[in-house]
Amino acid sequence: MKKLYIQTYGCQMNQHDSERIVQVLGRLDYQPTDSPEHADLILLNTCSVRDKAEQKVYSALGRWRDLKEEKRGLIIGAGGCVAQQEGELLLRRVPHLDLVFGTHNIHKLPEMVEQVETLGARPIELAFYREPSYMEDPGGKPQVHGPRAFVTIMQGCNNVCSFCIVPYVRGRELSRPSRNIIREIRELTRSGVKEVMLLGQNVNSYGKAGSGELTFPELLTRINGIEGLERIRFTTSHPQDLSPELIEAYATLEKLCEHLHLPVQSGSDSVLHRMRRGYTREAYLEKIYRLRERCPNIALSTDIIAGFAGETEAEFAETLAILHQVEYDEIYSFVYSPRPHTAAVKLYRDDVPQEVKKERLAQVQRLQNEISLRKNRQSVGTVEEILVEGPSKLRRGQITGRTRTNKIVNVMGPTMLSGSLTRVRITGASANSLLGELLKVSAMASTLEAGGIA
Ligand code: SF4
Repeated sequence: MKKLYIQTYGCQMNQHDSERIVQVLGRLDYQPTDSPEHADLILLNTCSVRDKAEQKVYSALGRWRDLKEEKRGLIIGAGGCVAQQEGELLLRRVPHLDLVFGTHNIHKLPEMVEQVETLGARPIELAFYREPSYMEDPGGKPQVHGPRAFVTIMQGCNNVCSFCIVPYVRGRELSRPSRNIIREIRELTRSGVKEVMLLGQNVNSYGKAGSGELTFPELLTRINGIEGLERIRFTTSHPQDLSPELIEAYATLEKLCEHLHLPVQSGSDSVLHRMRRGYTREAYLEKIYRLRERCPNIALSTDIIAGFAGETEAEFAETLAILHQVEYDEIYSFVYSPRPHTAAVKLYRDDVPQEVKKERLAQVQRLQNEISLRKNRQSVGTVEEILVEGPSKLRRGQITGRTRTNKIVNVMGPTMLSGSLTRVRITGASANSLLGELLKVSAMASTLEAGGIA
């Protein structure tokens, strides 16, 4: 049995792609290992959303040069977005790299590895496909890790936000046939999965690319009907595709969890215009207002870029203002980093000094920490249902799970509750997570034995 080590960078899409890589290479009898020293095959699944991510790739590959010299026959490969972006250049710059595979070519890995093993070749596969079939089940046993599972429903993006490299490295939008998505979720539910996270660079434009497919709200309605499934989540969305039908789905589909990740990026119309986001601050807020009208307890998260090209103090102040106005439960915030092949790098100078970018990012995070802490404290004393995911990393004897509003809750309790929907009382809060206590362990144990919800 050969050993496979994968190092994954970036988003949940990449994490799920790494699960698919393990699945597809299982056909060549590769089994995952946690240490590169024990591996026969090392793969880097890369992300190129930010400059730092790219640098990490070259330093990781540099670290493995010695391993390659020590271990005869060790194969090293790179995939994901930096591989798609750099292609041949990666093989030229890293002589000890054996193969490069792009974002549409995971299914090609078995034959590429065999080419290295048998011919000593250095294959490279970067093609983009026009049909979604490359996203289908590559054979081998699906990877189920606990009660939650990722399901890719589409890939690529037809938007052209000026700062974003995704359309360049993931291609145009392609949606998987809904029948394949439904079949996959049924199989996962039969394997004990209770919650699915639907993945795509722009999930809420699912089915738009003229495939005669279901719309995203229609797909959600079908998934909501799957027996045994308890919860549905999805990421990532674009505000312009937050349709009235999708808002209505939050009010009507009982399994659709009350959480939406809706990247705003900036609170300033002039910055949104330079970013080519395709909406104004007012239009974005209007959608948030409608959503909260139909689903009052919805939790919201977003992405914020600080220090975009030309961002003035006044424009930045509007970003802080929108954080005050919306009061997100959580944000992901970054400094602007120019990416190759994007419109912004061609049109605008990266003229906000690094220290100003960092100071603005710190202001955003300070403000959001206050908001998250205050909102989390409001849930102390309330009772929440969590899906127990397993042992907590924080403390022995503690288990961890998520509320329907995507809040992490840690409670003292038996790991046998993993995979169960459990009611807890919230007893404490920090900006990033909650503390809770199990409502009644004894009654719970008997309910569980009877296979019910505790
Ligand atoms: S919608 Fe998202 S993935 Fe698409 S170009 Fe804009 S930022 Fe990138």
